[in-house]
Amino acid sequence: MQKLLLIVILTLFTSLNIFSQAPKKLNASEIYESIKKLNFLGSVLYVAAHPDDENTRLISYMSNKVKARTAYLSLTRGDGGQNLIGPEIRELLGVIRTQELLTAREIDGGEQLFTRANDFGYSKHPDETLEIWNKEEVLSDVVLAIRQFQPDIIINRFDHKRAGQTHGHHTSSAMLSIEAFDLANDKSIYPEQLKDISTWQPKRLFYNTSWWRYGSQEKFDKIDKTNFISLDIGTYYPSNGLSNNEIAALSRSQHKSQGFGNTGTRGQQMEYIELIKGNIPKDKTNIFEGIDTSWNRVKGGEAIGDILHQVETNFDFKNPSASIPELVRAYQLIQKLENTHWRDYKTEEIKNIIYACSGLYLEAASVTNQATPGETVKLNIEVINRSPISIKLESIECNNTTISKKMELIENNGFEFHEVLTIDSNQKPTTPYWLSEKGTLGMYHVSDESLIGKPETPRVFNVIFQLNIENTLISYTKPIIYKINDPVKGEVYKPFEIIPEASVKISEKVIIFENNQSKNIPVIVKAGRDNIEGFVSLNYPDNWQISPDKQNINIPNKGEEKTLIFTVKPPNNQSEGQLIPVVNIQGKTYSKELIEIDYEHIPYQTVLLPSESKIVRLDIQKKGEFIGYINGAGDVVPESLQQIGYHVTTITPEDINPETLSKFDAIVVGIRAYNTLETLKFKQQQLFDYVSNGGNLIVQYNTSHRLIVDELAPYKLELSRDRVTDETAEVKFLEPNHPVLNTPNKITQQDFIGWTQERGLYFPNSWSKEFTPILSMHDKGESAKKGSLLVAKYGKGYYIYTGLSFFREFPEGVAGAYRLFANMLSIGKENTPIKTSSTN
Ligand SMILES: [Zn+2]
Repeated sequence: MQKLLLIVILTLFTSLNIFSQAPKKLNASEIYESIKKLNFLGSVLYVAAHPDDENTRLISYMSNKVKARTAYLSLTRGDGGQNLIGPEIRELLGVIRTQELLTAREIDGGEQLFTRANDFGYSKHPDETLEIWNKEEVLSDVVLAIRQFQPDIIINRFDHKRAGQTHGHHTSSAMLSIEAFDLANDKSIYPEQLKDISTWQPKRLFYNTSWWRYGSQEKFDKIDKTNFISLDIGTYYPSNGLSNNEIAALSRSQHKSQGFGNTGTRGQQMEYIELIKGNIPKDKTNIFEGIDTSWNRVKGGEAIGDILHQVETNFDFKNPSASIPELVRAYQLIQKLENTHWRDYKTEEIKNIIYACSGLYLEAASVTNQATPGETVKLNIEVINRSPISIKLESIECNNTTISKKMELIENNGFEFHEVLTIDSNQKPTTPYWLSEKGTLGMYHVSDESLIGKPETPRVFNVIFQLNIENTLISYTKPIIYKINDPVKGEVYKPFEIIPEASVKISEKVIIFENNQSKNIPVIVKAGRDNIEGFVSLNYPDNWQISPDKQNINIPNKGEEKTLIFTVKPPNNQSEGQLIPVVNIQGKTYSKELIEIDYEHIPYQTVLLPSESKIVRLDIQKKGEFIGYINGAGDVVPESLQQIGYHVTTITPEDINPETLSKFDAIVVGIRAYNTLETLKFKQQQLFDYVSNGGNLIVQYNTSHRLIVDELAPYKLELSRDRVTDETAEVKFLEPNHPVLNTPNKITQQDFIGWTQERGLYFPNSWSKEFTPILSMHDKGESAKKGSLLVAKYGKGYYIYTGLSFFREFPEGVAGAYRLFANMLSIGKENTPIKTSSTN
């Protein structure tokens, strides 16, 4: 059964061309659907804030049923989200989620656009969002997207009127979309954009509402729907054997990093959109009413429409190539259109249809997936025509040189050519364009304006095939790709990328020194080409010491790594700074790390980021030594505690028994453990008994939704959704004399400086009198939240509940977070550790 299911899934994926790097190979049904789409001249832009906000059902419906050109404008790339599939967070997560969106769009037929806004994490209010984003820049990017894409219809995912009730990014996306709707047609707005594109006025703007916006289906049924359009999006597509919602589910399931796997449904399903701008159509099922979506919409289009409707009517599923002469005739007429917007878009569409109808296959494959500037690379070029149509190859252009290759492409007779590509010595390495310059918390910085809005960095190396099809010159541009045969996976495609001749990294991004002892730090150098020779040194803060000054390096083989050890000695007092490794090869310096992102569902990619590690000399005292850690949803708290000298043992609920627990000075429960570990509920009483016998139990944040225990603590404790997202919010000490603020480390305001992303989340808002609230804090305009750190004595030990974001602060090396946590672990402990003998 399992096996059968797998085969079915694989077959589906193949037919949908899900593997983004592999070339699309349309079958006859897909060609026919493309011809229908070629005959529709209308467009829809869907707008929201994050990857995964988009309604894939509606996008798929617009693209596959209505046949509209459909795009999703995600204001951000989702850097602030979680990652369920790997260790990448922040900008690297944004790279993954960008590709997840692109893969989703390949499935549902949409296109993907972005702005320069950065997902900086949760935001309670659009006022805050638009302050941290540069509002003018994001608005200008939305206006640019409208002017470039020229949508007839805009659909917002979110309600612009819900400020303060949902994520500030969401409300902001709707507000900016509405503002841009009114501005895009105004020549005086962002005139610098109007060099190559023109102003544009979309006709209607909708909000994609739903019954849950109104609390219940019942309430929704009662509201006035004069301005609503209802669409039955449950269409079935016989051409690929899937319902619209099955396609949408496959698309949505690409958001794997967010755990958004989705099961498709069949049958009728209503989708509602509410008119915000423009006039309401009389036909409540046609959002394009009054907009000409036929070829008549463009001057000179009528004749094209006449030809292409015939092509659609006469399409021969057994012989798609029979349509080629007429398609070529239409292609010629499209070239003459004055409307450059539709000319360019329809040219690409019809070229792809001609390509598919003739069974053409054009490919330029490099023998390596990575090359360095100055290198030469061998290319294998394949050209074949698999139709009886007369097609001649005129030339192949590669690397700015045109090679004349005049030859008749006889049906099903393939040609292979071998060419050499020389990479310019000044060629920039391949990396996501939005990460190549330093941005701010809220914005990416993109100095090349032509890149703004693009989903990914355009491929630099392409091969252009000039063909003569039915006496008409048509050129096809194919990016150079890398292709191998994997013994298990079969044909595997990867992008062809340029990498620097050397890259360098320090694995630990934060290195904590809990005293003034030196540490040996490994520096890893990777060769981008054969035979690199040079030396490596480190940049570091003044009051630290490094030895040796520099070390020679010699790596014979491309792709090989060498590790050098440097000794780093911290100063005597609390101090922090950056450690930056630098590789010097014949006067050229390299200090970037090459990060590979390699997952099955998205294309392989490399990202170049500055290689720097934060070094922190902590002024920290601690009591207790052995810690048991119960992992919840996953965090790096155990590794962080190990860095400051604790012996940390990870334990599972199954390991929990009185004997095991007695070995530890403290048990720390990882984030959301009471949401994710079903079996932990059976051990709750044993954990309480452990506290009663003198142990310390520290529980980090959980959410009240899907809590697996009734009693989180030995005393009454109620979780809420209270959170403090401003990481600089003032922290008041409610109990300045409490041991947790005084021993062994004296906690001061200094310890709350330099926190990152937030103070904390899901604080309890109600607790029994045995708990002592230690701190008070709140976001702007809100009441004081006192539940971030609660301490209770229970029997001989202590139970501590904290929603403070230690799991975010530790990996950033925030000294105060370490010092406070050491106090929590030390509370009630003697100066000497309880356990003097090593346990395990
Ligand atoms: Zn969102």
